[in-house]
Amino acid sequence: MNHSTPKEALLKNLQIGLGKARPVKAPTGTTLHCKGWHQEAALRMLCNNLDPANGENPDELIVYGGFGKAARNWECFDALVRSLLVLENDETLLVQSGKPAGILKTYPHTPRVLIANANIVPYWANWATFRKLDQQGLMMYGQMTAGSWIYIGTQGILQGTYETFAALAKKHFDSDLSGKIVLTGGLGGMGGAQPLSVTMNNGVTICVEIDPQRIQRRIDTKYLDTSTPDLDTAIAMAREAAEAKKPLSIGLMANTAEALPRMIEKGFIPDVVTDQTSAHDELNGYVPTGISLAEALTLRKTDPDQYIDRAMDAMAIHCRAILDMMKKGAIAFDYGNNLRGQALKRGVTDAMDYPGFVPAYVRHLFCDGEGPFRWAALSGDPEDIRVTDEALMEAFPHKKHMVRWLKMAGEKIAHMGLPARICWLGYGERDKAGKLFNDLVASGRVKAPLVIGRDHLDCGSVASPYRETEGMKDGSDAVGDWALLNCMVNVASGASWVSFHDGGGVGIGNALHAGQVTLADGTPEAEVRVTTVLRNDPGTGIIRHADAGYQRARDVASERGVKLPMLNMFP
Ligand code: NAD
Repeated sequence: MNHSTPKEALLKNLQIGLGKARPVKAPTGTTLHCKGWHQEAALRMLCNNLDPANGENPDELIVYGGFGKAARNWECFDALVRSLLVLENDETLLVQSGKPAGILKTYPHTPRVLIANANIVPYWANWATFRKLDQQGLMMYGQMTAGSWIYIGTQGILQGTYETFAALAKKHFDSDLSGKIVLTGGLGGMGGAQPLSVTMNNGVTICVEIDPQRIQRRIDTKYLDTSTPDLDTAIAMAREAAEAKKPLSIGLMANTAEALPRMIEKGFIPDVVTDQTSAHDELNGYVPTGISLAEALTLRKTDPDQYIDRAMDAMAIHCRAILDMMKKGAIAFDYGNNLRGQALKRGVTDAMDYPGFVPAYVRHLFCDGEGPFRWAALSGDPEDIRVTDEALMEAFPHKKHMVRWLKMAGEKIAHMGLPARICWLGYGERDKAGKLFNDLVASGRVKAPLVIGRDHLDCGSVASPYRETEGMKDGSDAVGDWALLNCMVNVASGASWVSFHDGGGVGIGNALHAGQVTLADGTPEAEVRVTTVLRNDPGTGIIRHADAGYQRARDVASERGVKLPMLNMFP
């Protein structure tokens, strides 16, 4: 007979103390292993980030985005789990770059976990310093949702990517991509959302990816239709599908910096060109030309300087090819991986001639306080997500685009790890949804608590001059105060855990960003916390954009009651 307590069983299941790689799965159901649901939620979401069904390379604690990690090393993972298990309901755990550094006495309604990842004093904030600190075991790259424990698989980016291609279609192609060919690179954790997003918009896409395993993973999870290692075959398939106006996604196993110039030589110019290889990281992300993937992985370790040199050269070639395609008629945009910034450093002086995706297609949404609202069912039961989908469609029937997305997502998206969902909601909508979810837990219609969080790519949470804050109206692209204010607001509002990172999708020194995750466990206390956090978090986005001079954000502030002292707006 087994007499172990839930906590003992969990320690055994997760092999806590092993100090090295092992398969990790989040506990599910209604049994509490920690001293409260906030801690339990953090523990489950940390484990979920490392679930092999969810994270990209969990053995190395890598979740996505180059080497965005959930914990600094396996000893730290063990210590994080142990810390969360003993954490009291009036204590806060401090996590410094993936390591549990200490536990302090706070209040029941303050965050249970505070996380800081990869922050370096600005003068030294570059990859060289980071890598030195990383090698000394002093830091970890947190990306956005990797180190802040709210990664929900490729779905997390699918909706945003779908929205971006929909906005592009609206702007350039009469709201439909049918008959159009989109060329892109990278089928990793985030980039893997591109093929399905294009076909959901009725288009055809060629996605160039060097790693056959990544291609297979996207085919297995139905994000990608087919693949070939042959460039001519890929072009022929794409042209045929576009002619027939049939949606199709093709993975081309090749190096982007080799494939794109060859396409130009052959006279193939797509309708749209972009990229989501891990260009933000020239050592652990982008693969140089002239070597196989296996050789590249070895070179990373044996001669990092040579690797970086070659990767930077390849990125310059890649960016030049995108510029050439643009000159020959393709619509080009940067997809948030800093390829342009890297190429600029390598002498491509016109790298910034094509825009980033935020100023091109997303900024107007930020002015409405719109951003990625995601949630996960701690029960582990997909039925809980179905119930929440239904509730949202009922609560926001006028958001037709969102309703269409939720229906499509329910039918097409396989859950990776804990069942989860994402949709974009604006200021005034997110707190309404938070209350709705808390009510669903309270009434028992959802079987266990839900966590509600977001990516750091949001309206108020990030300062990133090559991405979210590129080309701000008042020139405030590099002002980092806004991201810090957003972080502090989320702490003050009572999120369950709050994080502040440097680097994200564009690399060390290029972005500062904050994240929050908040629990809805059906209690009145949780109702206050979710509604406060989910009102104020996008509220900082309205304030930030109104301050920068965007009239739409000022209108939203005045319509929905956000106080703006400098504009004498006190509704
Ligand atoms: P990832 O590391 O999981 O995947 C990157 C993929 O690119 C890998 O599969 C790798 O094999 C492939 N690759 C690298 N160099 C290549 C080359 N030269 N040719 C062909 N394939 C190559 O990263 P991810 O999570 O998919 O993110 C991709 C990039 O997009 C990152 O830079 C990330 O920061 C950025 N990003 C953008 C957004 C956004 O909203 N636009 C969001 C998150 C991340």
